[in-house]
Amino acid sequence: MAAGIVSSDHVQNGQADLRFDSGRACLDLLATAHPVERIDSPARLRAWLVGAGLIPEGARLDRVDADCVVAFRELRADLDRLVRDAPEPPAAESPALDAALARLNTFAAAAPPAPRAVRAADGGLVRVLHPDPAGPALLAAVARDAVELLTDPVARSRIRQCEGDNCPLIYLDTSRGRRRRWCSSEVCGNRERVARHRRRTALTRT
Ligand SMILES: [Zn+2]
Repeated sequence: MAAGIVSSDHVQNGQADLRFDSGRACLDLLATAHPVERIDSPARLRAWLVGAGLIPEGARLDRVDADCVVAFRELRADLDRLVRDAPEPPAAESPALDAALARLNTFAAAAPPAPRAVRAADGGLVRVLHPDPAGPALLAAVARDAVELLTDPVARSRIRQCEGDNCPLIYLDTSRGRRRRWCSSEVCGNRERVARHRRRTALTRT
């Protein structure tokens, strides 16, 4: 099983086909649009929120509903524009980017899921999140991650698009020497290795 791609024990939780290997929660959200829509129900959104590390496993997410799914997809569309299309340095005037920024900031303005200190079985205190956060809090958690990424010049300079054929996935290159080329070396990297091998054997045959 490929590293970074969910393992089989996640399949039961609805995390099959979801990927969490971009290096940032907000970029993991972008990956849910490829190659087909992955956030297609409240249950899938709940699975994504847990997989992305925004909500602890087992937390109640009863308030994640169909409206929340729509809002997450809207946030994702804005994020996609801001991450992919934003020139470096940003263009002085771009009404479409400015509108996307305004919506991102509105999502980020809400309070994210509240942390709480609760007693563990051994009597010590552990930090947990509010057990049943509403949609705006969950959207705020992702939007704030995006605000941090977009306003951090070092992190921003490490945003890459996968070099795989027709792969639109975006990731943060935190590798040593900044040499990560693929969204996943097991998926797109392996595909390229296979293609290279095929070309080589075709050449030796001619
Ligand atoms: Zn890829």
